Amino acid sequence: MIENIENLKEILRAKNIRLSHQRLKVLEYLAQNKTHPSVDEIYSELQKSIPSLSRTTIYNTLHMLKEAGLVNVLTIGDSEARYEIIAENHGHFKCTSCENIFDFSLSVEEIESSDLADFDIKERDVYFRGLCPDCLESDRKDSEK
Ligand SMILES: [Zn+2]
Ligand SMILES: [Zn+2]
Repeated sequence: MIENIENLKEILRAKNIRLSHQRLKVLEYLAQNKTHPSVDEIYSELQKSIPSLSRTTIYNTLHMLKEAGLVNVLTIGDSEARYEIIAENHGHFKCTSCENIFDFSLSVEEIESSDLADFDIKERDVYFRGLCPDCLESDRKDSEK
C-alpha cells in the first residue's frame, strides 16, 4: 500500500527526492486526510502548527509530488483543485450539495484489458455526481416540514 507514510518516504528515497520538514508535513497531511483537501484547506490546517508555512510551499510541494507520481490532482467541474495521495484504482463521487468528494472502489482491469487494450492510458478519472446520503437525508427532512 502506497498510502502509509513510511512507504511514501521509502518511495521518495528511491526516487532521490528529499523533502524539507515543511514539505514532509504536506505529504503527511495528505496521507492522513483522505478528504481530497484543496490547497486552502491544507494551508489553514497546517498553518496552525507551522505558522511559517506559505501557500506557495504547499503548491510547490504538491506539484513536485505529482511529478513524482505520488499525488493525484482532481479537478471536478469548476471547483478548485483537490489533492490526494495516489491510491489503488478508485472513482470519485462528488456531492453537488456539500461538495464533499467520496471514493468508491473501481476495478478497471477488465476494461483496460479488453476495450482499451490497444490504448496507452496515462490517467484514470471516473467522476460521478449527485447527492451524498447525508444531504439526501436533510433534503428529506426539509420536505417533511
Ligand atoms: Zn452531501
Ligand atoms: Zn480519491
